[in-house]
Amino acid sequence: MLILVVEDDARVARFITRGLGEEGYQVDVCTRGDEAAEQGLASPYDLILLDWGLPGQDGLTVLRHWRLRGVQCPVIMLTARAGTDPLVLALDSGADDYVEKPFSFEALLARIRAHLRRRLEHPTSLVHLGDTILDLRRRTLTRSGTMVELSSREFALLDLLLRHRGDVVSRTRILDRVWGVAHDPSSNVVEVYIRYLRVKLDGESPAVASLIETVRGRGYRLRTDDEVVASQGPGPDDET
Ligand code: CA
Repeated sequence: MLILVVEDDARVARFITRGLGEEGYQVDVCTRGDEAAEQGLASPYDLILLDWGLPGQDGLTVLRHWRLRGVQCPVIMLTARAGTDPLVLALDSGADDYVEKPFSFEALLARIRAHLRRRLEHPTSLVHLGDTILDLRRRTLTRSGTMVELSSREFALLDLLLRHRGDVVSRTRILDRVWGVAHDPSSNVVEVYIRYLRVKLDGESPAVASLIETVRGRGYRLRTDDEVVASQGPGPDDET
């Protein structure tokens, strides 16, 4: 789960980021409104925490910008402005929720969980990767009718590649995202987990190119649907 935190107060941003990281969420941080306006469009976030008072552009303007451009993920506004008027204004501008500062982290977490749960109940939790179906909610893969469970690291790794499908994700980025800051940069843990994932995605002796491509010296990328179809060639279903 990838969360964007837009907060200009470094202390609050650190506090939220650390707390979310401990709960297993991946977090991006933005400290300016004008940057957040672009950032929110650039990456498919599962949820956004948005401060109201920001340099560059205020949170409400950023929120309207996102909604006008089709950003649909849940947005929780964080603000020191108490009272009904700001609450109504925020919700009417497209916020899904509203949390007044100072807030209890536990209460914020509970709201985040509630919004994410609702999002996961949508039927879009199934992703097709060639012949393999990934169930984002149950964290399982189904290939040739067989269900395979993914460990939490394997799922986090695949989830990261999926978010950047078609693009190369560097080894460093994978280490940061999936293993966090405490990783040893010289370890071969990424290579090992890519191997595990390939076995689960492609089978023991894949007949076609792996869904995960190694891009020498740069990292790894998950092939797009078009590439998968091209590599499989015309199948028995195509003979009409
Ligand atoms: Ca602020």
